[in-house]
Amino acid sequence: MTLKGKRAIVTGSNSGIGLGCAEELARAGADVVINSFTDRDEDHALAARLAAEHGVAVRYIPADMSKAEDCRALIETAGGCDILVNNAGIQHVAAIEEFPIAKWDAIIAINLSSAFHTTAAALPGMRAKGWGRIVNIASAHGLTASPYKSAYVAAKHGIVGFTKVTALETAGKGITCNAICPGYVLTPLVEAQIPDQMKAHDMDRETVIREVMLQRQPSRQFATTAQIGGTVVFLCSGAAEQITGTTISVDGGWTAL
Ligand code: NAD
Repeated sequence: MTLKGKRAIVTGSNSGIGLGCAEELARAGADVVINSFTDRDEDHALAARLAAEHGVAVRYIPADMSKAEDCRALIETAGGCDILVNNAGIQHVAAIEEFPIAKWDAIIAINLSSAFHTTAAALPGMRAKGWGRIVNIASAHGLTASPYKSAYVAAKHGIVGFTKVTALETAGKGITCNAICPGYVLTPLVEAQIPDQMKAHDMDRETVIREVMLQRQPSRQFATTAQIGGTVVFLCSGAAEQITGTTISVDGGWTAL
């Protein structure tokens, strides 16, 4: 599978799933733009490392996905893209009555509205080329709900709906848009929660992962960032040309329950 000559932009990609997507796209030969809201030496060093490892062009472009103008500027600064992965996302857990308004607004802006802005900015270039792939990183929470995650679940259900509309507006034009719905993925963020959970439940690492963290994931195994990235690469392949407007779950059976 080669994506040589294609430019991919992955939002929120200096860690976790976004970085996994960037790595797999680079491995498949695409030039990649990685992004977050910071502008540190280590962000640019990460781009240089990916470029050296995979022999492709990799650029880090800082842009804050909570801001409409930054989202649109990211696409313009990159010079457009053939592949757009809308991945940036945050979480906050609280009951509806106590949910901070600023957290609600930030989650809707970063997890949902950013995809509207980047897609709107990327589509004219994709239409002109007659080829484009848009992959939105939703969640099992785009298809199911959990208490105390109102903003996250609303944003993720929203992005699944936005995926379908994008697919309908681009159908038959060489452009596809799909959402990946991961279950629990072992990212540095999730890894960091394990020691606290071990303490809180007085369990060893394996037991707390199996019985507490992966309690809703029938496989009782985390998905990996490389598996999510591999699914993105598949959606960019010729085999996926007629896959559009749908969701692909990578959740160890979560949504089959
Ligand atoms: P993460 O915290 O490791 O990565 C989030 C990325 O988004 C980081 O690179 C961060 O810098 C970036 N980001 C945050 N705010 C931003 C902003 N304002 N502007 C630009 N970038 C910003 O988390 P992750 O687990 O890799 O999550 C990535 C995506 O996958 C999210 O959309 C998340 O909802 C989704 N997801 C994660 C899991 C999981 O188990 N980890 C499961 C399902 C879905």
